[in-house]
Amino acid sequence: SPRVFSGIQPSGGLTLGNYLGAMKRFVDTQNTGVQSIYCMVDQHAITVWQDPENLRRATRELCAGYIASGLDPEKSILFNQSQVPEHAQLGWIFNCVARMGWMQRMTQWKDKAGKNSQNASLGLFAYPALMAADILIYHATHVPVGEDQKQHVELTRDIANKFNHDYKVDFFPVPEPVIEGAATRVMSLRDGSKKMSKSDPSDASRINLTDDADTIAKKIRKAKTDPEALPSEAKGLEDRPEARNLVNIYSALSEVSVDAVLADVGGKQFSEFKPMLAELAVEKLAPISGEMARLMEDTAEIDKILARGAERAREIASPILKETYKIIGMVGA
Ligand code: ATP
Ligand code: MG
Repeated sequence: SPRVFSGIQPSGGLTLGNYLGAMKRFVDTQNTGVQSIYCMVDQHAITVWQDPENLRRATRELCAGYIASGLDPEKSILFNQSQVPEHAQLGWIFNCVARMGWMQRMTQWKDKAGKNSQNASLGLFAYPALMAADILIYHATHVPVGEDQKQHVELTRDIANKFNHDYKVDFFPVPEPVIEGAATRVMSLRDGSKKMSKSDPSDASRINLTDDADTIAKKIRKAKTDPEALPSEAKGLEDRPEARNLVNIYSALSEVSVDAVLADVGGKQFSEFKPMLAELAVEKLAPISGEMARLMEDTAEIDKILARGAERAREIASPILKETYKIIGMVGA
């Protein structure tokens, strides 16, 4: 039967990209009744430096963000990765299944390691094998992610296939990436060729879920655009990445197709469209950030939810790890 897994790193505050590309879709999935497991991947976050106090806060805030967006910790399993050691245990095994060449091809590795890759952590390089373990330790079949994670889910498929082939078993399912909707790749507000990221050094590049109404309006007003008016059809956005990004965001937030949005706003200047977008963004995000702030007042309750989620996650993960050990030939399993 289908089982969904996805994760978000507590590597900073949540962005509009995370909300539209991931969280909003997790909520839709949960509400279809499929068993869903959503993780705060703190062990991925530390592949780049994280201040301990910030990591703790970001993990709790991420949990609050999940719940504020509509995830129900009774229906879905919500937990942080480090409380379920089976992820790291299976991750080690996958480090021995994955090939160096596979990792070297990952575009995120190239982007995040930059020119001075000798100075990047070994964890940043190996991260996709741990991500494969996050997914496969639950025998998950579907992985809702943004476009930027497609390559890592494909690598997960390669790892599942190679494991099954090497050990002559049909043990790990080969999971499908689920990349749907108008906002699978929300771009930076400052650069239409870069994706919006919580770890981008420029705060003006993104909308944070915790930004207040004035900040959201100001960031959208200052968002990079071209001088043309909006087209009345989607094909008019083809060579206009910044314009396309703002229209996609409008479409995803309002749940109206890009064509229908353009039928409405085609011909308008950005000076007119940007305030409309800002108003829509505030209308959709303010209730979430308000609820996040309320939940953050009781961190003990958040910690309880995470501990309970970890217990439920381990009930699934632990027998799968044991079976994996048996297949490999580990004595004691
Ligand atoms: P970091 O910069 O630390 O990598 P991030 O903003 O990329 O942070 P992740 O935790 O790496 O966030 O990703 C969590 C989920 O959000 C993934 O499914 C990812 O594909 C999705 N996501 C991240 N950024 C965007 C974006 N700009 N548009 C759509 N989806 C996104
Ligand atoms: Mg990322």
